[in-house]
Amino acid sequence: MFSNHKCIVTKFGGSSLADAAQFRKVRDILMRDPARRYVVPSAPGRRFDGDTKVTDLLYACHRAVRNGEDLEVPFSQVRARYEEIHRELGLSIDLDSELNHIHDKMLSGADADYCASRGEYLNGLLLADFLSWRFMDAAKVVFFDDASNFDSEKTNVVMMALLADDTPTVIPGFYGVCPSGRIHTFSRGGSDITGAIVARAVRAETYENWTDVSGFLMADPRIVEHPQEISRITYAELRELSYMGASVLHEDAMFPVHKVGIPTVIRNTNHPEDEGTLISLALPALPTEPTITGIAGHKGFSVVAVEKAMMNSEIGFGRKVLQIFEECGISFEHMPSGIDSLSVVVSGEAFAPHREEIVGKIAEICEPDALTIHDNMSIIATVGRGMVSNCGTAARLFSAMSRAGINVRMIDQGSSELSIIVGVDDQDFERTIRAIYQEFVG
Ligand code: ASP
Repeated sequence: MFSNHKCIVTKFGGSSLADAAQFRKVRDILMRDPARRYVVPSAPGRRFDGDTKVTDLLYACHRAVRNGEDLEVPFSQVRARYEEIHRELGLSIDLDSELNHIHDKMLSGADADYCASRGEYLNGLLLADFLSWRFMDAAKVVFFDDASNFDSEKTNVVMMALLADDTPTVIPGFYGVCPSGRIHTFSRGGSDITGAIVARAVRAETYENWTDVSGFLMADPRIVEHPQEISRITYAELRELSYMGASVLHEDAMFPVHKVGIPTVIRNTNHPEDEGTLISLALPALPTEPTITGIAGHKGFSVVAVEKAMMNSEIGFGRKVLQIFEECGISFEHMPSGIDSLSVVVSGEAFAPHREEIVGKIAEICEPDALTIHDNMSIIATVGRGMVSNCGTAARLFSAMSRAGINVRMIDQGSSELSIIVGVDDQDFERTIRAIYQEFVG
């Protein structure tokens, strides 16, 4: 069984393992704390602007074979990337035969998932050799079912058993195996998920996700100049922010660790001295912390507003409206409601092709007094634990918007008490985020 030693699972993203110099940084980080006993690598990422990620080259290999084009064009680039790391680090594994085997499998028509997964597989082999750690193929410990859904329980049981001996181990990210033996990958960026799965299985104290930024920013740096970093955030707050478009971590990577209460820390491989962002289950709202945790949003929503006197007493009214959207295959994002009104906020792109149909059906089935559609709406969430129960926050937010001359088209506080959501015209999107940031952060 697992010892009582503190244990940390680390995951290094593609840019953290893009070349030999990055491998050395990773080793230094691992050596600095003996608790870092499990490492999940991504495939080599971009080394400079304009460079191509190995995963993208591997998908290009698959396309080349499928389209009857020359495999050597993309494959020689893959080969060169690994050979360079192998050579510069003076590694001893037989890279040539690994590459030749993969090359032959590709030529004989291996599928896209197999091809893409080799990026992590090879990087894992190189890293294990460099560290002199055990290599554990993800195909032995990460399982999918026949329908290619991740089998979390089987994975957890097998992984726990195979990793229980505390031996420092490299487990490649991004892929696993189906019962048929076929390799299957998570969606892009999925090594984050593997890291979280390993953290859960070995009951890690912390899941460290090493990347090329020093944590999450409070707002999009393309909108707010030099936004502050978020030092601590809860999983629930992060979920709200990532839903709204902020992204650093794969969304599905939160669940395995969240479930068992293991905190995740986002750290920067190029600046290991930075503390990064700590994501945990619950955090006390300390007086020293900022009132808000972050601001994120999206443009391009359509709001379908339905008005009908006495709507509140008409049983099934909301269901009828939502069913119309459901039948068109459109999911709704928000649904603020008043006494005699209800608004359904949907993606403008998803709504456009069904517009006539939806309007017609609402008129026919729900017989509203009025039906209005506002297109080109932005939804902005201001997120912060404790913010909502802290009186005066909403007033500050709306005063800031009013001072900036921004018209609030919609307000939705949701029931999570974690965020205040406002709807504004797309043209006011950036100004709104700046006004809110300025008010709360300065
Ligand atoms: N290499 C894969 C990708 O580029 C998975 C990952 O990096 O997490 O999406």
